[in-house]
Amino acid sequence: MHSATPLSSVSVTTANLGFPRIGRHRELKAALEKFWTGAIDAEQLLQTAGSLRHEHWRVQRKAGIDVIPTNDFSLYDQVLDALVLIGATPERFGSGEVTLERYFATARNSSTQPVMEMTKWFDTNYHYLVPEWSEGLAFTPNTRRLLAEIAEARALGIDPRPVLLGPVTLLALGKGVNGFDPLQLVDRITTVYLSILDTLAANNVSWVQIDEPLLITDLTPTLAEAYRSIYARLSKSPVRLMLTTYFGALGDNLPLAVSLGTAGLHIDLVRAPEQLQTVLNALHPEQTLSLGCIDGRNIWLTDLSAARLQIDEAVRVLGKERVIAAPSCSLLHVPHDLREETALPPRLLRWLRFAEEKLRDLSALARNETSVLTQNQADLADRKEAESTTNATVRTALASLGEADFTRRSPYPARAGAQRKQLGLPLVPTTTIGSFPQSAEVRKHRAAWRKGIESTGQYESFLREAIADCIREQERIGLDVLVHGEFERNDMVEHFAEFLEGFAFTRNGWVQSYGSRCVKPPVIYGDVSRPQPMTVRWTEYARSLTERPIKGMLTGPITILQWSFVRDDIPRSQTTWQIALALREEILDLERAGIRIIQVDEPALREGLPLRHADWATYLDWAVKAFRLATSAVEDATQIHTHMCYCEFEDILPSIAALDADVISMEAARSKMELLQAFREQRYPNEIGPGVYDIHSPRVPSRDEMRSLLEKALEVIEPEKLWSNPDCGLKTRGWKEVSAALEAMCAATRDVRKHL
Ligand code: GLN
Ligand code: ZN
Repeated sequence: MHSATPLSSVSVTTANLGFPRIGRHRELKAALEKFWTGAIDAEQLLQTAGSLRHEHWRVQRKAGIDVIPTNDFSLYDQVLDALVLIGATPERFGSGEVTLERYFATARNSSTQPVMEMTKWFDTNYHYLVPEWSEGLAFTPNTRRLLAEIAEARALGIDPRPVLLGPVTLLALGKGVNGFDPLQLVDRITTVYLSILDTLAANNVSWVQIDEPLLITDLTPTLAEAYRSIYARLSKSPVRLMLTTYFGALGDNLPLAVSLGTAGLHIDLVRAPEQLQTVLNALHPEQTLSLGCIDGRNIWLTDLSAARLQIDEAVRVLGKERVIAAPSCSLLHVPHDLREETALPPRLLRWLRFAEEKLRDLSALARNETSVLTQNQADLADRKEAESTTNATVRTALASLGEADFTRRSPYPARAGAQRKQLGLPLVPTTTIGSFPQSAEVRKHRAAWRKGIESTGQYESFLREAIADCIREQERIGLDVLVHGEFERNDMVEHFAEFLEGFAFTRNGWVQSYGSRCVKPPVIYGDVSRPQPMTVRWTEYARSLTERPIKGMLTGPITILQWSFVRDDIPRSQTTWQIALALREEILDLERAGIRIIQVDEPALREGLPLRHADWATYLDWAVKAFRLATSAVEDATQIHTHMCYCEFEDILPSIAALDADVISMEAARSKMELLQAFREQRYPNEIGPGVYDIHSPRVPSRDEMRSLLEKALEVIEPEKLWSNPDCGLKTRGWKEVSAALEAMCAATRDVRKHL
């Protein structure tokens, strides 16, 4: 163990910025889903919500947290709640009071119109509802719930610090309706925030946490100006504002942030420890600094001695009254309680911290509890020394990689020729993205097998049948490139993780994704390696059933990384390359088994983009290399596909091209092939399968509709380079609509082939 600088014994105040709201056993999810089906009424739903809030406040207090948030709870989404609070829910859902019915109609289920759009909250896997800014929004404050929660907390003896989503971040995260410029609303939004702050002041609230994570991103001059003008007014409020930033460094926005006149500033010292000194120097006299020193984005234990040094330094410069210790961001992004994890290896448990444990660590850190700090150093040392986290073979393999390992044998044009010969496909080949319906029957068998009710033999014979049926159906429909259907997969990341060394799985490590939806990301705790083939058996079985080519299906290295909790003791790039090496072996095994088309899905490539543009190039460089590392070992005649389910390509198209996949399929139907324009303008070199039908709805598109989309695609793409496929996998659909839609897709494809 290294010897740390002696710790000071000063205690500082602790604050939490937000607590996971779904509940230790996902009680909120259960209640919401029951409410939506009518099994419980509004009162019962609100009662569950209320008891969760109470429970969470108690947990935080028990952990020793001084400053406890309110208004961090939500029945669905905190961004929608912010809109309700300021009277700015989308106009198209009506005006006046937002009843529970209207709230959920807006968020998730409207019989008359599309619900609000959803998108990722910064670089997390949480999805928020996108505000819709328009001229006619009422902006009448609705503080009933805000005040009710404060009263609830006070009744428990807690003096809360309410959380508000800051006005500039809120404006910037939304979209203007019909080209409306959201910044026209600056005045009105300021007025409504001021009125809310006044109401809080009148209710004896002294501090408010105002979240402005936008401050860690590249700001346009207009947004910077919006900050200045809005906060010039808000900072006059009698309520003290804790301007809260997270997910990165303030960087060039630091002078702006400290000049906004707020009483406090919260900074993320986990993502950006290097900013402590500059912030300390820049802070105005009287401003309080909240140090985000416990990682709110990951599940690993924090080095408390290192965090203590940060606190000590801040105390030295500012004095202890002006220093607060906090998690880096809201704990929304981590699971609830590690004590639920009874099946994880005990040694791994020592290295993990979920929300509750993080708060206890925070409190011990701020109070300088020596026993906890000593134990923390021992746990850290244990993690460092653990042999289970390093695999010498993997390390050597990574260290000895050369240029050639990232490059296919021949460039695309030569490969295309070899593949044509090998595969003998028609022009505009038809295929799917991989999964076929995960019917109730499929899920039932898997659940029974997992519970031990069904034997492996029984389960596998069911899978064999499902695959055989699926192959026959694809042949009947007339698809050219078939897939096995992915029936054995519960999830496109967990399925692979279960085969790989270096991964662990929690029982209850749920994190909210959106609304009632949660994900349980696997934990990457050690070097990743592949002790055995992962997909070869089922893919080979499918191949044995048909004369047509079978496409092998893999999840790509970046997607496996992005959708897991990733170890923080080596760079993310290194973990990704380790996964890539494992996939490379899998791909070679598939090739040896006679699979000559292999798809490596990378739907998460784009969401891995760093929040600052300046960091994009570095990320894209290692991410692209990871894909190439996984896919470059095959022969020229083996065709590599990739798939992405988004349509914003323009700004990263050069990197997409650099993946050098022989074929890329992606979502395109909803945007009516518009994205292909960018492919043409930027001369995308390889083959493309723009989705010809939207799989997100049960609607079966007509043959004519798909033919015209294919014709549109052919205006931009040479016939030799075009594929015909749906937008994405079909696992969420039913067989009836899938068969009908794919039949129409094949017919539409035959129609366009006639003219080629
Ligand atoms: N192969 C996967 C499927 O078809 C791809 C899923 C995805 O793109 N998200 O389900
Ligand atoms: Zn997809």
